[in-house]
Amino acid sequence: MTFSADSKGDAYARTLDCVHCGLCLPTCPTYQVLGVEADSPRGRIYLMRALAEGRVQDPQSIRPFLDRCLDCRACETACPSGVKYGEVLETTRAKLEQQQPARGLAAWLVRTLLWHVVAHQRRLRIAFALLRATERLGLRWLATRLGLMPAHMAAIAPTVPPAAERAPLRTGLHVPPPGVARRGVKVALFTGCIMEPVFGRVNRATLQVLLANGFDVDVPAAQRCCGALLVHAGQPERARELARANVAAFADADLVLNNSAGCGCAMKEYGHLLGDEAGAAFGKKCRDISEFLAEAGLTAAPRPLAAKAAYDDPCHLCHGQGVRAQPRQLLAQVPGLEMVAHGKPEDCCGSAGIYNLLQPDVAEEIGRRKIESLVRAGVDLVVTGNPGCMLQIDSHLRRAGHRIAVRHPIELLVPPA
Ligand code: SF4
Ligand code: SF4
Repeated sequence: MTFSADSKGDAYARTLDCVHCGLCLPTCPTYQVLGVEADSPRGRIYLMRALAEGRVQDPQSIRPFLDRCLDCRACETACPSGVKYGEVLETTRAKLEQQQPARGLAAWLVRTLLWHVVAHQRRLRIAFALLRATERLGLRWLATRLGLMPAHMAAIAPTVPPAAERAPLRTGLHVPPPGVARRGVKVALFTGCIMEPVFGRVNRATLQVLLANGFDVDVPAAQRCCGALLVHAGQPERARELARANVAAFADADLVLNNSAGCGCAMKEYGHLLGDEAGAAFGKKCRDISEFLAEAGLTAAPRPLAAKAAYDDPCHLCHGQGVRAQPRQLLAQVPGLEMVAHGKPEDCCGSAGIYNLLQPDVAEEIGRRKIESLVRAGVDLVVTGNPGCMLQIDSHLRRAGHRIAVRHPIELLVPPA
């Protein structure tokens, strides 16, 4: 299996940008934990280049090293040569998967989950409802004790949200009260396949903040999953189907707003995924909610909150989208909120989509290091803008016995009732 080097910007050409300086190594979470060159960005680029040049006898032999990568892109931030690591990794994973789909129970479960559950809102709601039912009936505890459900999976299973959050978010256009309208830009909200069933309160807060700040908000009913997990799993064809549906669903919007960092990053990259003008144009109109609000400015002051909080950067917001200052600027406007820095804000938390289910040991250690840094900061609140990170950090904090709440930045921007 080789890649062609004749088309500019392809995965193979990207591997040639690497000058082997090693500046990315200290920032790589798997290298930090495992200390193995092949589990570092430089090592993986070397392997992927060798594969592309036909120098790897058994292509599947490099798969475990690529599987252990979180696709967090901390290496892209650190790289002085501008290596587009994410593109190389995702292209290589897709080629390996195409050549020989991963086998075994875990691979079958991932495919079933990604193809038949995550990409279908109704099925995902049912899956979470079942998960919550096992919790209510005490079956989750029993399943863990009997070894039917791995402890790490039980630990990140979401708790039951209030009934108001379980009702589907109303789709269609939401008009702000008269007198506060800031028209001129048609904004639409992407609700996310994990965010909506797990943290419905975040979508409701997003809507509330946008309306209170004078924006008409459309919530298109035809929107689908962003496809990020499929891209990360080396299944871009299926992701393209979803991307095309989203391009059509948001055709009327000037801007597509996102409160899930992972989804937002993937949607900004639809141009690369679809390889056409429509995808590129769609990507240009995507904004993280913090980017949009920081630029537009808050006209409705947030509710006061007396708390000491640390902001933790989701990888796909800071490394993937380059959004760092905006959430901090907005949080600085919350009356009474004391923001403190912690030691590892841009290190991955170990969530990375479903990585914590597939690579539990590495994810566990990465998560433990993140929590250590947050606890050392002495905060009573952690603020982060991605549902996977919220689940992972909350799970680690609870299991370690810390009473520290986890919130999305937008929840702190809701004005008083
Ligand atoms: S994407 Fe993250 S885990 Fe993967 S090589 Fe880069 S820094 Fe390491
Ligand atoms: S920092 Fe960039 S150029 Fe240096 S080893 Fe890492 S990927 Fe290669």
